Amino acid sequence: MKRLLLCYLILLPAMAFSQDFLDQFPFRQQTQYFDFRCKRNSPQIPEIARFADGFIKLVNHDFFKAQFDYPIRVLVLEDRARFKEFLVRELHISDPPNFGIYLPRYKLFATYEDSGWGTFTHEILHPLVEGNLQHRPLWALEGIPTFFEKFYGYWKGNDLVVYWGFQNPWRIEQLGTNLTRLDLRKVISDPEPSNGFTAIERQESSWRMGSMFLWEQGRFNRFLQLIATHNKAGYPTYFEAAMEMPLEKILPLWQTYLNQAAAQRAKILLLPNSKILPDEAAFQSFVKANYLSLEQPKQQN
Ligand SMILES: [Zn+2]
Repeated sequence: MKRLLLCYLILLPAMAFSQDFLDQFPFRQQTQYFDFRCKRNSPQIPEIARFADGFIKLVNHDFFKAQFDYPIRVLVLEDRARFKEFLVRELHISDPPNFGIYLPRYKLFATYEDSGWGTFTHEILHPLVEGNLQHRPLWALEGIPTFFEKFYGYWKGNDLVVYWGFQNPWRIEQLGTNLTRLDLRKVISDPEPSNGFTAIERQESSWRMGSMFLWEQGRFNRFLQLIATHNKAGYPTYFEAAMEMPLEKILPLWQTYLNQAAAQRAKILLLPNSKILPDEAAFQSFVKANYLSLEQPKQQN
């Protein structure tokens, strides 16, 4: 059987279709958009559940129509070791990822309590991309979710205010000296299937730079809209259509972007984990303490 190893596309043998494993998750929290199944009654879960619902509303409002056959089911293991063990034992995934995995066949994603909020947003994006951006190029299958894994924001009443476009320290670290040598043609062409999650993570990190570049150019939202409406505006790729220029013209901009990111490397590696603060005052102190820039490139339609 052909096995396309992305954190999204795991083709499991048909025998693994049973969902008996749900019995192993005795604690349940249901929200407007999610059905959380947990191993234990952790105080983190209600907080994550509130955030996850707020995040769906935010994507729908600020990025693209977030339709799905809700609820999205979420399995929350206790920790990374037990998460990996579960994937190996119950789902026959021989080389499990480090943070989370989306399983389209079961309409669910699995992660663990301390995987970080960026893991939740990344994995939530998988069903949303699947349901609303079916025409996405193959690189964007991970390129879009990875964009959403880094953010800072706060609660304003029942709404989330979120700032995007931050580099992800571990991904920049993973790209290492390859960062300034990333070939855009390769990044946005259909990938060769990789073996093993480390190779996939490295591939994902380069795809994230593709989305991050579009964001920095103010073209990320346009990219999403074009995919949603299946419109390449006469260009060979959605990437060029979003930029409204051919690849040759984009290449120097891309190189400048990579060079700038590399020059910021030391600062990027100090960025804290994705976080939502309880209110604006707490957020502003957090921003100050971590020297964050809240500048957001204006996104064109
Ligand atoms: Zn993914």
